[in-house]
Amino acid sequence: MVVILKQDAPKQQVDELLQWFNSYGLKTNIVVGEHTTIVGLIGDTSVVNIDNVVANEIVETVKRVQEPYKNVNRKFHPDDSVIEVEGEKIGHGNFKVIAGPCSVESEEQIIEVAKRVKAAGAKFLRGGAFKPRTSPYSFQGLRADGIEMLLEAKKETGLPIVTEIMSLQHLDLFNDVDIIQVGARNMQNFELLKELGHSKKAILLKRGLANTIEEFLMSAEYIYAGGNSNIILCERGIRTFETMTRNTLDISAVPLIKKISHLPIVVDPSHATGIVSLVEPLALASVACGADGLMIEVHNNPKMALSDGAQSMTPDGFDETMNKVKQLAGFYNMTL
Ligand code: PEP
Ligand code: MN
Repeated sequence: MVVILKQDAPKQQVDELLQWFNSYGLKTNIVVGEHTTIVGLIGDTSVVNIDNVVANEIVETVKRVQEPYKNVNRKFHPDDSVIEVEGEKIGHGNFKVIAGPCSVESEEQIIEVAKRVKAAGAKFLRGGAFKPRTSPYSFQGLRADGIEMLLEAKKETGLPIVTEIMSLQHLDLFNDVDIIQVGARNMQNFELLKELGHSKKAILLKRGLANTIEEFLMSAEYIYAGGNSNIILCERGIRTFETMTRNTLDISAVPLIKKISHLPIVVDPSHATGIVSLVEPLALASVACGADGLMIEVHNNPKMALSDGAQSMTPDGFDETMNKVKQLAGFYNMTL
């Protein structure tokens, strides 16, 4: 249930109303906007009589919310959320590109790629240190050393870093990471989500391979409910019957999620397709449909990449794509 308060509701009356809701065992989430104050009620609201709430003189309107996700629901928080990391904003017209290799492979490699993606206009460096691989015989990532190399690349270029966490046991290694990525395979690792909810770090939450939009938002809800509202969603394609692409990019998820949630959402066209030639067209489609950013895999030598070479752009290819992304984002009045 969402309770919209009148513009000049006196604080004492607001506090009394909140206490009254608390007496029913409900938690309240208050959003003070420019023109209205909105109180979101979390818990079993069936015990509350709507007429009693409306009868309160400081109440403008009351709406019942059916969706199970409350904190990330736009009805509770009508304004777009803007996530700020190291001075870079994402959301509400701030469009940001995260780029870098699938895996960190060496210090030279990550620094070289970092310099190139920065020059092209990316504002964040990605690189996997802990890699979720289908086969235990595939390259598993450089782990703690990989994070150290990302930090070196940050020192060299100033680009904040994004890297994936696979286990809570590694959380301490992520102290200096700017954005912690929760990969598709861990979208429903609820213990991980709960723990990240207690952190203050920005979280990039990728949609699971076979998860609905509601499940995706419920996973974001886990993080938010724990107290961490610094969440960036990432649509990275879902499994369908199609076999010609690695996944199927659910492009409609972008405008739909923007309608029902206030969280920013970026698109990863690299994992969505698995085919480098499809990355640029889908990147541009993502800009056109209102995404708040992109995550793109770029490798200095894709043919020799230890993971995801077939979907990785060369730095030159990334330059070309970025020129088009910048033009299109400019057309939509977005700041890169
Ligand atoms: C990745 O970003 O390298 C990755 C493994 O992505 P996803 O979790 O979307 O498969
Ligand atoms: Mn990858």
